[in-house]
Amino acid sequence: MTVVTRFAPSPTGRLHLGHAWSAILSHDFARARGGRFLLRIEDIDGTRSRAEHVATIVEDLRWLGLSWDADVVFQSARLARYAAALARLRAMGLLYRCYCTRAEIAEAMSAPHGAVAVYPGTCRGAPERDAPFCWRIDMAAAVERAGALDWTDHGRPIVADPAAQGDVVLARKDAPASYHLAVTVDDAAQGVSDVVRGVDLFAATHVHRLLQALLDLPTPAYHHHPLLAGADGERLAKRHGAPALAAMRAAGEDGAAVAARLRAGVGVPTSGP
Ligand code: GLU
Repeated sequence: MTVVTRFAPSPTGRLHLGHAWSAILSHDFARARGGRFLLRIEDIDGTRSRAEHVATIVEDLRWLGLSWDADVVFQSARLARYAAALARLRAMGLLYRCYCTRAEIAEAMSAPHGAVAVYPGTCRGAPERDAPFCWRIDMAAAVERAGALDWTDHGRPIVADPAAQGDVVLARKDAPASYHLAVTVDDAAQGVSDVVRGVDLFAATHVHRLLQALLDLPTPAYHHHPLLAGADGERLAKRHGAPALAAMRAAGEDGAAVAARLRAGVGVPTSGP
């Protein structure tokens, strides 16, 4: 089977070294196996996605010396696919409308520290009303329908535990899909055999595995990697003030040299498992 990997950034901000490392790992995984590497722009969030970020992402990746093997796929052009998947899940009776506001959800989810906060199912079984809503999955019903599931991470079997994520959102109030639904549909549609991504998405994979089972989609092999951390040991994030690749590029840094340093693990302290 041909190895197919992908890098799937959301164009809601500029990429930093953590993204570069993730893209390189995914790219090199495919290249080392004679496989294909794809670029997918996850721009279903119409309010936060920006065209100028897309252009910058493409330039950043080229600057790093990465190449991809097919036209870039934009999730914003694929909303009908997500709507079809959503309709299938609705027809199974596994979704419900949630009318909760952000404030109501924040209050309901302010669990005592230590506990994993999940949506408590306030709107499950609530009567329909004329108000904006998102679609949530009835997780207990979905898990019962799908039965026991597992997936592999770095070749090790992992028992899927989607129930721990609660009744996640599958279509947002302002978009016909959520990250979980779009990523599951697209990884299958693009024939992705191996998902190489940060360990911050490990929990999400339990949900993706469940959706694959419900939608009769294949399950890729997963390879979650540790996250790059700053000098202070904190993981790099946009809000952490990590230098944007675009700024490094503008300052005249050599992208190939940056990529080589990341590959060699020079100055790449990592956090997480
Ligand atoms: N779009 C997601 C992000 O930028 C990543 C999706 C994925 O790799 O599954 O965090």
